[in-house]
Amino acid sequence: MIDTVVLATRNAGKRAELAAILESAAGRPVSVRDAAELDLPEVVETGVTFEENALLKARSAAAASGLPAIADDSGLAVDVLGGAPGIFSARWSGRHGDDAANLRLLLDQLADVPDEHRGAAFVCAAAFVDPDGTELVRLGRFEGALAREPRGAHGFGYDPIFVPAGDDRTAAELAPEEKNARSHRARALSALVAELPLQGS
Ligand code: IMP
Repeated sequence: MIDTVVLATRNAGKRAELAAILESAAGRPVSVRDAAELDLPEVVETGVTFEENALLKARSAAAASGLPAIADDSGLAVDVLGGAPGIFSARWSGRHGDDAANLRLLLDQLADVPDEHRGAAFVCAAAFVDPDGTELVRLGRFEGALAREPRGAHGFGYDPIFVPAGDDRTAAELAPEEKNARSHRARALSALVAELPLQGS
């Protein structure tokens, strides 16, 4: 049974989301360490898929800490762009992590695309790596379409232009718990932790 897990992220929001999903799947408190706390090395994301990059991060964290590790990698896949920005989502405009510039560039690129062709999905790969060599990776998708202008103040990244299927609000207009209940990240992690030996007394 797993007692302590390293979450291979320095993002406080992601850490909280990952820890909450782990605990609810385990039905008991799970001791969690993170990349900042353990000062884990930065990982160069040389993979060409979400799965490969999530595995690279989890392998590096497990090797450096000697503990089982969980990592995720995610992005936005736009139908009419053949799945781009995809793994380049965080640096679509050329500057890593410039959410406003990334979102504006994408909106401009899609300016002439009519509503019926604006389908997109957030995609997340969640990976587990144990120092004993066990590796597991699961994908989660959050289907929707892209709005023409940003709306809402919650979330991050492309949330202000992503309208989840069956809703007319953007992901940035949803309460955080509402987004987290059906997000790509929650789906990938739930599928992953369902296969881990977490339950116990
Ligand atoms: P990473 O997995 O933290 O590297 O995220 C990659 C990029 O994908 C982020 O910088 C965002 O641009 C985008 N992204 C991933 N998940 C989300 C989300 O839940 N909302 C909005 N943007 C997201």
